[in-house]
Amino acid sequence: MTALELSGIKKTFGSTDVLHGIDLTVEEGEFVIFVGPSGCGKSTLLRIIAGLEDASEGTVRIAGETVNATPPAKRGIAMVFQSYALYPHLTVKGNMSLAMKQEGAAKAEIEERVGTASRMLGLEPLLERRPAELSGGQRQRVAIGRAVVRKPKLFLFDEPLSNLDAALRVNTRLEIARLHRELAATMVYVTHDQVEAMTLADKIVVMNAGRIEQVGSPMELYNRPANTFVAGFIGSPQ
Ligand code: ADP
Ligand code: MG
Repeated sequence: MTALELSGIKKTFGSTDVLHGIDLTVEEGEFVIFVGPSGCGKSTLLRIIAGLEDASEGTVRIAGETVNATPPAKRGIAMVFQSYALYPHLTVKGNMSLAMKQEGAAKAEIEERVGTASRMLGLEPLLERRPAELSGGQRQRVAIGRAVVRKPKLFLFDEPLSNLDAALRVNTRLEIARLHRELAATMVYVTHDQVEAMTLADKIVVMNAGRIEQVGSPMELYNRPANTFVAGFIGSPQ
């Protein structure tokens, strides 16, 4: 089953064309990484998938349904940002429960899902703390845990490791890879880091200036880059 289908996605801000027609299919359970230099439109595309931004043209389908007019909370997605985006006045548990509470879920079900997600991510000792009392790495784990609680059809990550130091980056990367396996989840992940892309992805989408240069597995891109941009970006010998 197709988890996500983008057809002809264009985005214009004022007189600037940021996305020039993006077509892509993501199958259920795939880990797809958008990679490309800063400013090439990765975050804009992710925000369009999430419904935080409207496409100027084109269609977004999630699990077979056109969602262009569907508000973010009803798209069955959960997004993890570089900046964590936790509510400072809520505890870890409060942050992880909020979306389900807003959806009117039963207390027992919220407890159960928050419990499962905190066990998966080792968050149990932190549940009563507030974001200000956590390290950057712990905050990002909470943001990931909050996404897991929602059991989304699609996880969206926008440079989730960028604010972490090198050791934590490796650690959190392995954690995300483990979650992908354990949950058999569909993940769409944005980064400007080739190493992240090469180690995590089933499929890499190389973007440049609002266009897709090439789509393929890490090995395909490394061994058969479509052009010098891809070769340079992925680091294949030329
Ligand atoms: P990336 O995530 O690949 O670094 P972005 O999607 O953030 O790139 O940005 C792509 C381009 O769109 C940039 O030139 C950026 O300045 C522009 N842009 C992004 N958001 C807006 C906005 N709300 N208004 C005007 N320009 C924007
Ligand atoms: Mg970005």
